[in-house]
Amino acid sequence: MELHDTSQTTNLHSCYSCPRKFRTELKLKEHMEQNHTVRDFTCDLCEKAYANETALKVHKRRVHDGRKYVCGICKRVYASREGLRYHNKIGIHTPDNSRP
Ligand SMILES: [Zn+2]
Ligand SMILES: [Zn+2]
Ligand SMILES: [Zn+2]
Repeated sequence: MELHDTSQTTNLHSCYSCPRKFRTELKLKEHMEQNHTVRDFTCDLCEKAYANETALKVHKRRVHDGRKYVCGICKRVYASREGLRYHNKIGIHTPDNSRP
């Protein structure tokens, strides 16, 4: 039995997003993850996005260390004390805004 080059190319898995082709589905998957990943998991504290829940969880634990800075008035959550401080500083909850 002879193997022609053409029969091999038909077995290749081609990427949906770019012209690259891969021998195995796993390789294609790897490539997709590294190059065309849809980042569906967004951090609610800093808006960084990740491809999977685990990565997001690791990020949260690492970056935010489980700590949250919550505004006591509108319950907005901030990743840092500075963020919350700024939120209060810009006068969102100060009645001065409604002064004529
Ligand atoms: Zn690709
Ligand atoms: Zn974050
Ligand atoms: Zn607030």
